[in-house]
Amino acid sequence: MLLDDETYEEIKGEVAHYLVRCGMSYPLDAGVFARRMDIDFVPYSTLGRDAYIAAMKTSRDGFLCEKNCGPAYIFFNDERMKERQDMSMLHEIGHQVLDHNSTPNKSDEVKESEAKFFAKYAKAPMPLIHLLPMKTVETIQKAFGLSCEAAGYALDNYKKWLEHFDGTYKDYELKILALERSGLEAYIFELNGIKKLQSECDQQLDWNKYRPDLVKEVRGHAVPLQSHNSTFVQRNLYEVRQISEFGGVM
Ligand SMILES: [Zn+2]
Repeated sequence: MLLDDETYEEIKGEVAHYLVRCGMSYPLDAGVFARRMDIDFVPYSTLGRDAYIAAMKTSRDGFLCEKNCGPAYIFFNDERMKERQDMSMLHEIGHQVLDHNSTPNKSDEVKESEAKFFAKYAKAPMPLIHLLPMKTVETIQKAFGLSCEAAGYALDNYKKWLEHFDGTYKDYELKILALERSGLEAYIFELNGIKKLQSECDQQLDWNKYRPDLVKEVRGHAVPLQSHNSTFVQRNLYEVRQISEFGGVM
């Protein structure tokens, strides 16, 4: 379900606040984040048979268990894909941060949507997606460790964010931009290399000038055959184009 704009802004603020407080870096490691939030983990695979069945009945992904004034536990299904496990952990951190256990006036549906948004935003915040020199499902997936589906949603949300972005960042966005991100920067460096290669190829070949109709037909349909004198740059051209044409914003 959709939440109101004010709630989305509040959640983004909470994400930034807790990321800074826990000294997190990007790409975000959900397990480290949870540990720094003093939340312990219980993988489903360590549970006995009855407890495992009960856990699966509660959720096939994971759930948060809080004791009054005691430590919180995230029970999580460690048979799921890594990307999904990460999102489950962030979702459960979201429930705790947003204090869902002590807000009985909120419906479960609202709580679920809030935790879901918390996880999505924490894993791939818009100001960090904005740093990527090529914004495609594939690059977002690789940069932030998302599933293909989640990266697709992140790209859609990024496009919406970009429509309203006037060049000035909000306070919580500045906090996120100030976080350590050497891992992400390494990938950005790699992408810049690919982008440079692509522009060199375009200058060198400029296919559109000769047969735009043919280029349109060929691109995205077939791998061009390699001629004997094709250079390394030309051989890489197809892959570079695939990346940039995969629903991308440059
Ligand atoms: Zn939930």
